[in-house]
Amino acid sequence: MPVLINFKICDNSEDCSGIEVCPTKAFYWDKKNKTIAVDNSKCTNCGKCEEACPVDAIRVARTEEECEKIKKEIDEDPRKVSDLFIDRYGAQPIHPAFLIPQSEFDVQILRSTKPAVVELFNNDSIECMLRSIPIKKLVEDVDVKYRKIEAKDNSLLEKYGVKELPALLFFRDGKLAGKIEGYYDVEKKEEIIKKVNEIISEIR
Ligand code: SF4
Repeated sequence: MPVLINFKICDNSEDCSGIEVCPTKAFYWDKKNKTIAVDNSKCTNCGKCEEACPVDAIRVARTEEECEKIKKEIDEDPRKVSDLFIDRYGAQPIHPAFLIPQSEFDVQILRSTKPAVVELFNNDSIECMLRSIPIKKLVEDVDVKYRKIEAKDNSLLEKYGVKELPALLFFRDGKLAGKIEGYYDVEKKEEIIKKVNEIISEIR
């Protein structure tokens, strides 16, 4: 019977405790696809991986019936992986007021009458969620427009030469006036805040 993983609540890390405890190496890190995986042909259904998971994301099915039941529970689980990042790691939830579709970039950012700061991110990336700083706090005292856009394709990344997400792009009068890529590192928080404020003061 298979081991089932609920990726809606799993951070899919190379450090997964399931890998550490599995006595047969059935539970492993798939380097090529960058995901945890299970070779069910090596699995003995011992249940150690299931016990080791702190959030019950790993489930070991012991009968066909149980397997179907678990699959259904996973399918119907209303949680999203972004909730996990927010709850478990304190990532910044995205306030809907700041989120705009990529199609509104020209109108809301390039044609903005005030300086604009846009954060491009990938919603499926734990790095993006964790590195997303509470920019609202940074810019609430200055008159800039702040928006977030999920980069669903490469068009904006290519246009503005962005190589790493999340990225903060600063615009004035429709022109790129500053850029910080992959900008948040807890160790460098103060340094980054200083840099953001410097760019904002230059473009105001
Ligand atoms: S049930 Fe046991 S053997 Fe199977 S993947 Fe989990 S830890 Fe490994």
